[in-house]
Amino acid sequence: MLMMRILRYTFLISFLALISSGLVSADAAHSAVNKSRQSSIEKSFQSEESGDHESEYKDYLAPDEIKALGKVHPRKHLKRSRISKAKPKAEPERKLIALTFDDGPHQNYTPQLLRILKERNVKATFFVVGVMAERYPYLIRAEFRSGHTIGNHTYHHPKLSEMAPMEISHEINTCGDAIERITGIKPRYFRPSGGNYNGEVVSIVKSLGYKMVLWTLNSEDIANLGVTRIVSRIEQRSSNGGIILLHDGVEQTIAALPSIIDVLRSRGYEFVTIDELLGK
Ligand SMILES: [Zn+2]
Repeated sequence: MLMMRILRYTFLISFLALISSGLVSADAAHSAVNKSRQSSIEKSFQSEESGDHESEYKDYLAPDEIKALGKVHPRKHLKRSRISKAKPKAEPERKLIALTFDDGPHQNYTPQLLRILKERNVKATFFVVGVMAERYPYLIRAEFRSGHTIGNHTYHHPKLSEMAPMEISHEINTCGDAIERITGIKPRYFRPSGGNYNGEVVSIVKSLGYKMVLWTLNSEDIANLGVTRIVSRIEQRSSNGGIILLHDGVEQTIAALPSIIDVLRSRGYEFVTIDELLGK
C-alpha cells in the first residue's frame, strides 16, 4: 500500500526504458480511476448535445482557414511567453508548475476552464481524447489559439496495457491525427488513459515520436473531495517542476480552479505548459 502511494505521487515522467517492475505495478493503482473515467466519458458522449458554445468560439480559425486569409502558420500568431527553454533545474530561482487537464474537450466545461485560465493569464496543458476532439474541434482550436499545449490522451480512452500492439498504436495515432487535422500541429506529448501503461506501451509511445508524461501530483478532483480539500491538497503537495493532474469535465475542478491558481501564485509559482516545463 505504501509502495503504491509512493508510486502514485512520486515523479513519474517516463521517456522509455524507465520501465521497471515498480513502475508497471502503478497500473493497478490507476485501473480503478481508469475505469471510472472511461465510464464517465462514455456517459458524456451520450448526454451531450453539440453546438452550444460553437458561436462563442467561431473566431478560432482552422489552419486551412488561416492560410486562406493569407496568413502564415497559426503557431506564429500565438503570443509565446518569454520563458526560456531551460529545464527547471537550470533555474533554481524560479518556481515552475504545470496544470494539466485530461479527458476533454467537453462542451460545457472546457469553455469555463478556458475563461478562468484567460482571466488569470495562465497557460496550461490539455491531454485530449481523440473522439472528443473530433466532436468539438472548435474547443481544441480555442485551446490551441489561447496558447495552451495540446497533448494526446488516446482516441477512445481505453486500458492500453490490455491491448495488442497494433491497437495501442492505432489509439495513439488516430488521436494524434485528429489533433493535427484541427490545429495543424502534431502533438509531442502523450499521457496514457487512466495512467495505465506497461513496457510495451512505453516503447510504442516512443517509436511514434511522443514523450510520455504522467504527473507528480494527483489532485483527486474526480474523487468528489470537495473544493476545499482539492485546493489544500494541491497547496500542500506542490513542488517546483511539478505537474498537476486535473480533469476537464468535472464540476469541482471548475469551482476549485480559481483558488488553485491564486494559492499557488501566492506561494511564488509560475504557471507553464508541459512544452515550457520539459523544454523543446
Ligand atoms: Zn483520462
